[in-house]
Amino acid sequence: MEQHSIFTKIINREIPASIVFETDDIIVINDISPKAPVHILIIPKKQIATINDIADEDIPLMGKIIAAAKQVAIQLGIADDGYRLVMNCNDFGGQTVWHLHCHMLGGKKLGWTPD
Ligand code: 5GP
Repeated sequence: MEQHSIFTKIINREIPASIVFETDDIIVINDISPKAPVHILIIPKKQIATINDIADEDIPLMGKIIAAAKQVAIQLGIADDGYRLVMNCNDFGGQTVWHLHCHMLGGKKLGWTPD
């Protein structure tokens, strides 16, 4: 059986997190180590390891991630100022948790340097 990721454990309430928003398919939490004044994670409840593992059947779920981002940005009051969505993939992308997720960064004007 596939090992549960840290995010699946959060989804299952086995470990705590600051939950911002939740649907049947998605959970949105505050990042434990924020890199911006607003740094949240939009996580599908389905444990997909990386972007490379997205199946055709998961494509609607990916749309729901973006739709959740839009809704949460409004909820947090950062929609008009703007924000950034980031999905890291594997080693070069800087991925550290093997459960696909989308970062939402905002609350200040962000720089644009990948290093
Ligand atoms: P990645 O590096 O895979 O793109 O992003 C993983 C993110 O998950 C990191 O920003 C990291 O701070 C966050 N993270 C790791 N463990 C936990 C945790 O237990 N709780 C929360 N809320 N965030 C976590």
